[in-house]
This record gives sequence, C-alpha cells and structure tokens, in this order.
Amino acid sequence: MRSFSAVEFGDLASVEMLLERDPVLVRKTTVFDRHSALHIAAANGRIEIISMLLDRSVNPDLLNRHKQTPLMFAAMHGNISCVRKLIQAGANILMFDSIHGRTCLHYAACYGHPECLQVILFAAYTSHVAVSWGFSRFVNIRDGKGATPLHLAAHQRQPECVHILLDKGALVCASTGGYGFPGSTPLHLAARGGSLDCTRELLAWGADRLQKDASGRIPYTVALKHKHGACAALLNPSSAEPLVWPSPLKFIGELNQEAKAMLERALMEANREREKNILKGTAYSLPSPSHSEDAMDDNVSEISDTNLCCICFDQACTIEVQDCGHQMCAQCTLALCCHNKPNPTTASLAAPVCPFCRSSIAQLVVAKVKTENDTGHAISSSKLRRSRKSRTFSEGSSSFKGLSAVGSFGRIGDPGSGRIAVENEWVDKA
Ligand SMILES: [Zn+2]
Ligand SMILES: [Zn+2]
Repeated sequence: MRSFSAVEFGDLASVEMLLERDPVLVRKTTVFDRHSALHIAAANGRIEIISMLLDRSVNPDLLNRHKQTPLMFAAMHGNISCVRKLIQAGANILMFDSIHGRTCLHYAACYGHPECLQVILFAAYTSHVAVSWGFSRFVNIRDGKGATPLHLAAHQRQPECVHILLDKGALVCASTGGYGFPGSTPLHLAARGGSLDCTRELLAWGADRLQKDASGRIPYTVALKHKHGACAALLNPSSAEPLVWPSPLKFIGELNQEAKAMLERALMEANREREKNILKGTAYSLPSPSHSEDAMDDNVSEISDTNLCCICFDQACTIEVQDCGHQMCAQCTLALCCHNKPNPTTASLAAPVCPFCRSSIAQLVVAKVKTENDTGHAISSSKLRRSRKSRTFSEGSSSFKGLSAVGSFGRIGDPGSGRIAVENEWVDKA
C-alpha cells in the first residue's frame, strides 16, 4: 500500500497528502501482521511521522496481530527518539505481547539498546507504574517463560544492558522458575550465550556459581556444553572467586555517582586481572582491554608523594572519605568494602569505617587533588598511578595484611596524620 511505504521511507509530505485525502488511513493496518502506520514509523525510526500521527490523536498503544505496541518496535530497533516521543505521548510501558509475553523493557534489553532501556526505566520510575506496580517489580518483570529483562540481556550478550539493569535493582539470582523454584539464572543464560563481559558483570554483582537450573546444572556445566571455554573457566567453582560488590542495600546504593563509577571501573579492572590468572593455564586469553593502558604509563612518575595512597603506597588517592577527609585509592576502597565471597551471613555486617580514623563513612567522593597548574580538578582512576603492570588485586589486598608494617614506616601522608587502624575486622578475609 502506498501510504505504508511512504511511512517506511519517512516521506512526510506524501503521508500528509494521503491523510488529507483519506483521514481513515491512520486506522488502516497491513493485511497479515496488522501493523499500523505508527508501528511502521516506530520500527524505521521515522520520528517526524510519529510526531505527526500522534498530533492527530492516534492512540500510541495500537496493537498488531501479536499485541505488540509501537513502543516495543521502537525499543527493539533502538530508535531512542521514537521511544521518547511515544512515552511522552502516554504510551503504556506495561503492555505484554502475545508471542512471549514480553514488555518494551524486555525488547530493549534483549536487542541491546542501553539508551532505550534507560528511558523506559526512567519513565517507570517517574510514572504511576512505580506507585501501582513498584519500580523494582517492573525492573524484574517476567515474560511468559519467566525470563526477566536481565535474563534476556545476559543471554543475548548485552553487557551494557546487564550493567544498567543490575544497577537499577534487577535480581542477579532471579530464577526463570519463579521465586523458590528451580530454573535458569541470568548466569546460566550468560553461560549459554558465552559472553565474558556479561559473566563478569553478573559475578561482580554476586551471582552464584553453584545455583542449579531445572535440570540440576550449574552455569559452569552450561558453558562447557555450549563450548564457551573462557566463560567456563571463570564459572568453574574451583577457580578464584571474583570480587563482589557489597550488598547494594548497605551503602553503595546511595553512593555518589562519580565515586561509584570510579569504584566500578576499579572493580572490573581488578576482576580482569584475576581472570588473566585464571585463564593463564587454559587455552583462552582475554581480548585486549577496551582502553589503552599502555598510554597511561607515561604518567606513572607524576604521582607526588603527597597524592600517594597511604595504604598501598602504590596508587594515587582517588577516593575521599567523608566527613573525615581521609583519602585512599579506589583499589584500597574496594578492599575495604567488598567481600571476596557473596555470603548472605556477612552481608549484614556493620558498614565499613575509615581505615585511618575509624569514623563512620558518611559518603565516598572522588578526591580532588592539586595538579601542577593548581586547577584542582578531579583525577581519573587510570591516571597518576605509579605502576600499572602485573599488579593483581590479590597483591593489592595482601598489602592490607602488612598494614602494621606500613604504619611503622611513619609515612602517613596528609591528611592521614592519624594512625592507620590495623585491625583486620574491616577487611573481609573469610
Ligand atoms: Zn591504595
Ligand atoms: Zn578518616
């Protein structure tokens, strides 16, 4: 039909002309799938046509044969401006299609469109959905087979979406069988998809390598079955445990965004180092890191001693504890806050305290340092490090054990004039 191809190709003038002649066209659908003009415009990212149709009071939630909405189409194809426009026009984010019982959030996660995911989540957070349904219930919404958006993103190798969903409260150990019933977890599906990045994200959030699916398999077995050797090596219950974020409920949940991003990077970097060791003995090697680390080596000599972390004497202070103002590096902050094992019995431990003065940590922020030209801007985590290569996090945290020795050096820099509290209770070594 002429009008549909004009919509598909974004020929606004023709579509307007055709609608002048025959206003009923806005309600016409394709013969078999019963796509409306709005569906076709959403799938093809034709934002002008969507705006024009919505201005003519077309219902944003028109359904096709499979009960899919234009919003699902826009989310599936990653057409972010169309997603925004449809939501502004009141499109319902809580519609389920009749194929797999999926929502627009499932579509965005499954097809790997992080921006669309963010916009939909924001809409859920600020709309009646949060009130009537509950935001975290929406984040963990299940399709007809029990899969949450996190399951789909993990299976489809979409680490960015995995990250966003976890950050917004997706349950890392959700089972497709429903609460308390055996089923696949997102880690099982990441193992099936074979994405190292997704596997790493999930493990860092405390995904359980020993949880069994409905057939009694752990993720390791699933990865082996699908011949994803590198994933299997990380999922092998006998390989080293990754570092895991502390319970998000504890205090990272309300962490300053900038500091949080820095700590997340440090944690991923630390886990990558561990992975190198795990994979060393196998035939698999990691792809080279996304950011060039070698380029940073030019900066290594630039850390002045006043910026140096007084715990490890290795990295620059990048994190400041408030309210006391003591500073340390991101790696040492993680060692302070992270548990080596996801363990529900330690999750309720008292919040960590400042290692220097033992006052409670009100907030962690990115440390401001004075640079050569004294502009006082924040330094980024990768810059200003004394040595980058061959430091693993386990080495970093083992330097905690030597804290008393470090303290006796008397090299506690400003503002670390207080003694370092050496008790091991704040480092979870269990
Ligand atoms: Zn340090
Ligand atoms: Zn302090």
